[in-house]
Amino acid sequence: MTSSTTPPNPPAGGSFWWTTGDPGPARLPARGRHVVDVAVIGGGFTGLWAAIRLLDADPSLRVAVLEADRVGWGASGRNGGFCEASLTHGLGNGQRHFGDEIELLEAEGRRNLAELAAFVADEGVDAELEATGTLLVATQPHELGELRAYAEASVRHGGSAVVLDRDEVQALQPSPRWLGGVRSGADQCVMVNPAKLAWGLAAAAERRGARVFEHSRVTSLRRRAGGVTVRVDGGAVLDADHVVVATSAYSAWLRRLTTLFVPVYDYVLMTEPLTAEQRAAIGWADRYGMSDSGNRFHYFRLSADDRILWGGYDAIYHPGNRVVPGQDLRPATFEVLARNFAATFPQLDGIRFTHRWGGAIDTTTRFSATFGDVLGGRVHYALGYTGLGVGASRWAAGVLRDKVLHPDAEQLRLRFVQSAPLPIPPEPLRTPVVNWMRDAVMGADANDGRRGLFLRAMDALGVGFDS
Ligand SMILES: Cc1cc2nc3c(=O)[nH]c(=O)nc-3n(C[C@H](O)[C@H](O)[C@H](O)COP(=O)(O)OP(=O)(O)OC[C@H]3O[C@@H](n4cnc5c(N)ncnc54)[C@H](O)[C@@H]3O)c2cc1C
Repeated sequence: MTSSTTPPNPPAGGSFWWTTGDPGPARLPARGRHVVDVAVIGGGFTGLWAAIRLLDADPSLRVAVLEADRVGWGASGRNGGFCEASLTHGLGNGQRHFGDEIELLEAEGRRNLAELAAFVADEGVDAELEATGTLLVATQPHELGELRAYAEASVRHGGSAVVLDRDEVQALQPSPRWLGGVRSGADQCVMVNPAKLAWGLAAAAERRGARVFEHSRVTSLRRRAGGVTVRVDGGAVLDADHVVVATSAYSAWLRRLTTLFVPVYDYVLMTEPLTAEQRAAIGWADRYGMSDSGNRFHYFRLSADDRILWGGYDAIYHPGNRVVPGQDLRPATFEVLARNFAATFPQLDGIRFTHRWGGAIDTTTRFSATFGDVLGGRVHYALGYTGLGVGASRWAAGVLRDKVLHPDAEQLRLRFVQSAPLPIPPEPLRTPVVNWMRDAVMGADANDGRRGLFLRAMDALGVGFDS
């Protein structure tokens, strides 16, 4: 007998987005033996877009998606819903690591975002997509120059960005913290309800003929002549010509991926719906997604029912690469987030937070995705979006499609696709290195943005840790 006083784990760590719709009855787990052309492991954005893009390229393919829990249960159903054009975790990070390709990558990112929005409209996916763009705000004087430089670079690379002074930002949205900002358009970012997007993508994949299995955790991959044998918890076996691994921060199950990424937890608060008076007190008429611009930043936005989602700031690594449901709630971080929220929106004094949750982000040393192949080139992976994968995962799925169907495709020759990030050492070194990095980034924020010796040494190695 289970104790009636023990509450069940809420779905997707307690994510608000999971309460906004109905994921439908669970799909059946995989059973028995199947022969497929492509087995996709992971039912988040990367895996679902991979299934869709493979089937759009070749409708005759037999594609199976294997998801350990429910579709959208991972980061895809828990995130802030900022669907950004950038493929490189922002222009600055892209310039730092891929200066030679950034022009192309920025254009590809904008094209990808436009195609994603068109797909959502054409397929009738109810993802609450709002083409709002963003407002990035400075809260410290040294950030004003950085924002101006960012806006100039963005325009130079074909993006939209307008610098706003303190009064202009305050007129849009009053807060004692804002000193100035940059407003970017919907070519750079649209807002979505991420869980509804994931559920809609699963339905779109099924309409194209994909089989989606839930509660089907893959336990091992074994190479065999002409393909790979995929074993699923519960005994099912898939014989696949190709495998796409799309398990993001949960990828430690495939040992050879563990040096590529660190799972870092990000936490979120959601307020109750704002009253008409509260709504009027904060401006925010154009409903753009917002973030402040320190190395440790908050991101915040309105939901369709006018709540404020407020997340970010802390980035917590749990030793040993642990990603388990017990880490989805972190009271200490929620307290810090609530305190910072109160300082930002004093006019909302007394507002309640109705939802709090967390999830793991797949962080690489170059702060952007990495792509590769293992097991004789039959198993292809994409992971490492470092907290900016809502839009980039669709582009990454195009890379995965080409790895399976068009290995000569031009985009596979990009350095962004071919090169690997600097590896992260295993424990016992991993925990001190990750925490040292975090402390150095916090030190830069407390020091007018000046990067200390450690961060500058990391920059020189191409391990640029910033926002
Ligand atoms: C709190 C938070 C806020 C974020 N905010 C933003 C944002 O505003 N904008 C943005 O662009 N990005 C954001 N991100 C990042 C973004 O959510 C991710 O980059 C993106 O969702 C990654 O999608 P994915 O499909 O690669 O991974 P996931 O969505 O994590 O999917 C991986 C799936 O694999 C499944 N799985 C794991 N192991 C196995 C196995 N062995 N067998 C079968 N299935 C398995 C998991 O259950 C999971 O469903 C945020 C992330 C978090 C956690």
